[in-house]
Amino acid sequence: MRCLNCGMEIINNLKITEIFSFKEIIPNYICNLCREQLSPLAGRNNCPHCFKPDSFEICSDCQIWEQKYQEINCHQALFEYNQFIHSYFKLYKRYGDVLLAKLFYQDIKSWSLKNQFDVITYIPASRGHFQQRGFDPVYELYADIFDLKKLLVKVDADKPQAQKNRLERMRTPQTFLGLPEINLIPRNQRILILDDIYTTGRTLMYAHDIFSEQGFQNISTFSLSR
Ligand SMILES: [Zn+2]
Ligand SMILES: [Zn+2]
Repeated sequence: MRCLNCGMEIINNLKITEIFSFKEIIPNYICNLCREQLSPLAGRNNCPHCFKPDSFEICSDCQIWEQKYQEINCHQALFEYNQFIHSYFKLYKRYGDVLLAKLFYQDIKSWSLKNQFDVITYIPASRGHFQQRGFDPVYELYADIFDLKKLLVKVDADKPQAQKNRLERMRTPQTFLGLPEINLIPRNQRILILDDIYTTGRTLMYAHDIFSEQGFQNISTFSLSR
C-alpha cells in the first residue's frame, strides 16, 4: 500500500495482539511522514462547543454565536487546520484529486466506531461547485464510512466562501434548504452533520438550524479539520 498523499510505501507494523485480536483492521492510506505533519485535536482542552484547541473554556467565536443563537453546536473534529491540511484540501478540492478522499480513512473510521448516531447527513456542494468539480468533496470524504443520507440542499452563493472575509462569512444568510425526507425522521433520533473544515462555524450552524427548527434536539456536528 502506498501513501495517497506522497506515494511512499506504507509500513503497517501490526502488533501480534492486533493480528490475533480478530478485530477489524482498518485500512491505512497515509504514511508516517505525512502523518507527522498533522496536528491531532484530541485531548487538547478543546472548546466544549466548537472543539477549538487550547481554549480551556467557551472560545470567543462561540461567545459571539451564543449572543445570536440559543442553541449551540456540539462539534468534534480530528485535526487542527495547518499547512498540511491546507495543501491537502487544495489538491483534493481545487485540483479535484478525488482519490485523496481516502487519505484520512483510518482516522475517520476509528472516530465513527466510537460515536453513535441514528441519522448521518453532510454539507452538500452547491450545484455550481458540483458541476465544476464533478464530485462532491464532503460526500466522498465520508461515503465509504457512514451511511449518508442526503437531507440538505445548498443554494449557490453570491461569491464563494473562500473569497469572503471572516465577518462577511458570519453574516451570510441561511444557504441551506431541508429536503422533504427530513419529515420522515422521528424527532428523537440522534442527528450527525458532517463537513470537511470548520472555520467560523457558520456553515454547520445553519445546517444545524434546519434540523433544530424542525424539532430535532439531539444534533451533533463533525469535521475533519478545525
Ligand atoms: Zn505520505
Ligand atoms: Zn468554541
